[in-house]
Amino acid sequence: MTDYSPLIDGVYVLAVIFFILGLRAMASPDTARRGILAAGVAMLLAILVTFLVGGLTNFGLIAIGIIVGGGLGWYWARVVKMTAMPQMVAVFNGMGGGAAAAIAAVELLTAVSDPTNASLSIAGAVIGSISIAGSVVAFLKLQGWMVQRAIVFPAQQVLNLAVLVVGLAFGVLTVVQATTVWLIPFFVLTLLYGILLTLRIGGADMPVVISLFNALTGIAVALDGFVLVNGELGDAGYAMVVAGILVGAAGSLLTIKMARAMNRSIGSVLFGGFGAKEEAATAIEGSLKPIDPADAASLMAYANQVIIAPGYGMAVAQAQRKVKELADALEAKGVSVRFAIHPVAGRMPGHMNVLLAEAGVSYDKLYDLDEVNGQFATTDVVLVIGANDVVNPAARRQGSPLFGMPILDVDKAKNVFVIKRGQGRGFAGVENDLFYKDNCRMLYGDASAVVGSLITALEHS
Ligand code: NDP
Repeated sequence: MTDYSPLIDGVYVLAVIFFILGLRAMASPDTARRGILAAGVAMLLAILVTFLVGGLTNFGLIAIGIIVGGGLGWYWARVVKMTAMPQMVAVFNGMGGGAAAAIAAVELLTAVSDPTNASLSIAGAVIGSISIAGSVVAFLKLQGWMVQRAIVFPAQQVLNLAVLVVGLAFGVLTVVQATTVWLIPFFVLTLLYGILLTLRIGGADMPVVISLFNALTGIAVALDGFVLVNGELGDAGYAMVVAGILVGAAGSLLTIKMARAMNRSIGSVLFGGFGAKEEAATAIEGSLKPIDPADAASLMAYANQVIIAPGYGMAVAQAQRKVKELADALEAKGVSVRFAIHPVAGRMPGHMNVLLAEAGVSYDKLYDLDEVNGQFATTDVVLVIGANDVVNPAARRQGSPLFGMPILDVDKAKNVFVIKRGQGRGFAGVENDLFYKDNCRMLYGDASAVVGSLITALEHS
């Protein structure tokens, strides 16, 4: 039989190089597409060359899996709306975690005859199971198919801990007794733990948890890779180890960064029950004051500086190109225009950056929360476009479900104009004091239509 090992090893090394270069390129919006392509090519190479690994069987089943999985993934990624991206990421994460748990399960079935890999497989199975079960709950919450806030009930932490500990005990028994009899309760309890853990997370903590499950899936895949390296299909494990470690490491760093941006510790995200309580109805002083687009446009035309604070509503309305047109029109009138970008504005990390980059807004006009917050007090007009939670001053009030989340301090500007369709609350479901303040005026309507009216009004001002 021909020994393809040198070719296989060579292709795996090439794939690993492509993975690393791809990840590096994803660090900037300018090169991100190239990065995705490089990582995709790496994965394709790794999959194709795996067919040459000796001892591989069930080619028909593998081919069906690739066609069905690849076809569905390709189709869904093409039709998904940008605003539904987090749900898709949650599902894809979950699939990775589920695949890792399934590989671990197959390995554990052989634990009776060969216990070498049992501990590694148990670790992969625990992490993979938590990731798939948690990702499914995250998907249901983000899709709005179940209540989005954190679900909290008495003795929940004790129950969660008990489920995890008993589940792990079944895993330890599987390893120690080299038996498969405990596998079903082991998987049931670890999957249940993933569900219970995610039920307790909600509101503005969702971005952090999605990124955490991404990291967990990477770690589970890496652990399975080690199991394969130790087994008969040794070569096939190398690419999984490297890809898994890259995803695990990048996902962990992203999780830490997102949690820091939200002023939260990972512990309080996982166990804090963010946004669990509906805020007790606090009487908000002031009233909602509408303004005509023509009046808003004329105030903006005479401003020295305008800051645009976009949010999820801009994504829903796909208003980014119109927003760029508006910025150009203001600049043509000598107004300095900047964009204030909150790290969790929209529904995925970097959502606003991606939309504005797609519309051709230059990167040096985008300001992070830390850079821009000091500028609002000296700004003539802030135009909030479909943002709500990320500009909600309730986050400064103890007792609010948003308390502690850093916000864009737009309420400190001289004038604030808010574009939204009606009285809809933000993702966290908390009433927004900003809209009632004396310096705030409401521009009601779909973001794309209202920005269009502002452009027209500017042309005539
Ligand atoms: P929010 O979801 O808080 O608010 C969006 C606002 O946009 C709503 O109040 C809505 O009001 C308005 N809106 C919706 N559609 C339109 C439209 N077509 N035209 C104009 N306005 C519209 O958005 P933010 O960006 O402020 O905050 C993001 C929230 O999502 C945060 O709580 C964050 O934690 C959470 N999240 C973020 C993720 C991420 O990774 N970035 C992932 C998951 C959750 P109305 O109905 O009245 O129009």
